[in-house]
Amino acid sequence: MAKVMAVNAGSSSLKFKLYEMPEAKVICSGNAERIGHEDAIFGIKYNGESSKDIVPILDHERAVELLADALISKGIIKSMDEIVAIGHRIVQGGKYFSKSVLFDKKTEDLIESLIPLAPLHNRAHLVGFRAFKKYLPDVTSVAVFDTAFHQTMEEQDYLFPIPYEYSVKYDCRRYGAHGTSHQYLSREGLKYLEGVEHPRIISCHIGSGASITAIKDGKCVATSMGLSPLGGIMMGTRTGDLDPTVMNYLCQCTGKSVEEMFQIFNKKSGLLGVSEVSNDSRDIAAAIAQGNKLAMLADTMFVRRVCDFIGQYFVRLGGADLIIFSAGIGENGPDFREKVCKELEPSLGVKIDPSKNDGLRGKEALISKPDSKIKVVVIPTDEELVIAQDAYSYYLAK
Ligand code: ADP
Repeated sequence: MAKVMAVNAGSSSLKFKLYEMPEAKVICSGNAERIGHEDAIFGIKYNGESSKDIVPILDHERAVELLADALISKGIIKSMDEIVAIGHRIVQGGKYFSKSVLFDKKTEDLIESLIPLAPLHNRAHLVGFRAFKKYLPDVTSVAVFDTAFHQTMEEQDYLFPIPYEYSVKYDCRRYGAHGTSHQYLSREGLKYLEGVEHPRIISCHIGSGASITAIKDGKCVATSMGLSPLGGIMMGTRTGDLDPTVMNYLCQCTGKSVEEMFQIFNKKSGLLGVSEVSNDSRDIAAAIAQGNKLAMLADTMFVRRVCDFIGQYFVRLGGADLIIFSAGIGENGPDFREKVCKELEPSLGVKIDPSKNDGLRGKEALISKPDSKIKVVVIPTDEELVIAQDAYSYYLAK
């Protein structure tokens, strides 16, 4: 038995989940939020009990100290040395990483070199890694990349039709995101496809951030997010794919700078921008129930864009055997799933079973009818588990 931690460090947060391996049993989980503030929050969940303290956490190193204190004072571990491996989530691995790797100096340098592609995320991941490294210098540390699973895409799928010189010189191309989730979902999805020789899966990770991936024989062949998570389908606050002219035109119309408009496309668009209500699908549903027309429009646009990508990937894969719904909306939105499946029914023969779909939240289930041409399942995603498993594999191989 060994303890392994999955870590997701953001610029002002540090999420953690401690596992007992190889059983993959969750021992505890928690989060430091508002790092950098006197009134930061440190929360931990253990043995069915949650605690939240408002304390000063001025940097990530302090967050790691608090985490260590909490683990020891609650009797979860006797010493931090019991943790044999730490897996760190990294948003952008660029063209360098097609799988999880040991977090050595070379990895650190490459992640640093990728900061221009994911400025907020990669910088924060490095800060988190270094804080743990200071506390536990000898622990097996592993970097697990959101982009790695998508590295199997072929050139014609990952390149943008811009001057080729730019693609090469600036590594400007599609990297995708949510790769760890899509990888997990595609593995889990295989149990519904016994006897299928070359499984074709369309995996829909639909949360506040949302992406769809086409997977053939366990490998990603296409994914909706682009150079950054702004691309692809419409999301909670992001536009998804846009005609690039929209940027120029709106800058001219509003007098805003490219950077200001970029922030609007990232943070004030999508469900929030169209509905003028909220980025949260539950608020949109409540507004629709009250007859709010813009909320209805936002919802219809969202479903339409998801279906457009599923259709595109159906063609790309030469058909499909399984559609997977996951993440906040995919797992908890029976209405959303029904609307998508109904829109797919006339062309793709997808038939959803209301008796299985209605009321299903946060649980795995097959939700299609036996005569549906494509099976449809809901699978709760578990990126942290993949991170912990990858870290544990490196510990075992040491
Ligand atoms: P992210 O990880 O990208 O921040 P999530 O996967 O947590 O996003 O998804 C957030 C979205 O999922 C929100 O739109 C929210 O409305 C929806 N959601 C989350 N939980 C539920 C729930 N229990 N019921 C309905 N919708 C939910």
